[in-house]
Amino acid sequence: MNKLPLCPYSRLCGGCNYQGIEYDEQLNKKQSYVNELLSEFAKVNDIIPAENPYNYRNKVHASYRYQKGNVLAGMYQENSHKLVAIDGCQIENQKAREIVQDIKTLIKSFKLTIYDEVEKRGFLRHVLVRTGHNTGQVLVTLIVGEAIFPSKNNFIKALLKLHPEITTIIMNINNKKTSMILGDREIVIYGKGYIEDILCGKKFRISPKSFYQVNPVQTEILYSKAIEYAELTGKERVLDAYCGIGTIGIIASDYAKELIGVELNKDAIKDAIVNAKNNKANNIKFFNDDAGQFMLNLASNKEKIDVVLMDPPRAGSDEVFLKSVVSLAPKKVVYISCNPETLARDLKYLTNNGYNTKIIQPVDMFPFTEHIENCVLLSKN
Ligand code: SAH
Repeated sequence: MNKLPLCPYSRLCGGCNYQGIEYDEQLNKKQSYVNELLSEFAKVNDIIPAENPYNYRNKVHASYRYQKGNVLAGMYQENSHKLVAIDGCQIENQKAREIVQDIKTLIKSFKLTIYDEVEKRGFLRHVLVRTGHNTGQVLVTLIVGEAIFPSKNNFIKALLKLHPEITTIIMNINNKKTSMILGDREIVIYGKGYIEDILCGKKFRISPKSFYQVNPVQTEILYSKAIEYAELTGKERVLDAYCGIGTIGIIASDYAKELIGVELNKDAIKDAIVNAKNNKANNIKFFNDDAGQFMLNLASNKEKIDVVLMDPPRAGSDEVFLKSVVSLAPKKVVYISCNPETLARDLKYLTNNGYNTKIIQPVDMFPFTEHIENCVLLSKN
């Protein structure tokens, strides 16, 4: 077997567990894994590879540490307060990585303090950079332990001088004892407070706390598959469950009569409402709710849904949701999943309760990692 050179940080970072493995071999491993877990339900298509498996991640995260008067950027080792310095990454967007690296020099010249995870004090905690692949817009979130930002305006000026491509900067205040990166409170300190990206010809606004797929090139392929599987004719009433900022529903809105989207995250729903308006998708409505509870209400009101598009987080869906799908009895369910194990569990429920799995399409959204996305079509018996 051919071996690729190992990323120098791979042993400490642990983010890419398929490091050193040729891309074709990575795909083979993912295909066998998906076949093993899911072929009992339906034919598993050949995995759709990424044309370029490098530098796809549109989101880059770093923490910082002073060492002998210099500043290091990197990440905390799992379950520890030990920062591993990382100066480059094969899968991250290069521009975002450059910004994260250059912030090291600014921390030093502005003498910013760094939040101490043990002492629970200090200023800068993390930096998160998100990029709009098709718009070039760049969002920098500075996650800080306290809201007082010494020499804020000069810091912003210096950062923009190094990276004029940055379109917005946000200060996120997280003073909690937590391993969660983002806190609740946000202050926009430069620009409009969000970025936009274009997917399948539609423009989407993305707020700092809203979910957005990390590999936008593969996302277009994935969503196109989902919409192809839904076989919409313009007459359907469609539910987009776990809709995030409304991407799938808004893309599908050209082909359906009416759509409803449901999502738990408040910021994401606000984005979704604006996104529908900006894309002139007048036939879609969004609701901020737990998908299961929302579905239960639809079922008890005996609403008519023709197609369910669902894209839950790694934990998969839940029985409240799936039970209501069964009682609403849509003709088709298109299930997009980032975790084959919870997908297998949920497919078992649906196939035991009146649905047939028609086709399973794996898409490689996360080269160099073991993760794999699947798009599945189910139809009512
Ligand atoms: N379809 C979107 C988002 C998919 S990620 C896209 O492709 O961009 C999964 C989404 O489910 C996230 O936005 C998350 O906030 C949301 N979510 C998680 N648990 C939920 C629940 N119980 N009910 C509704 N939405 C939920």
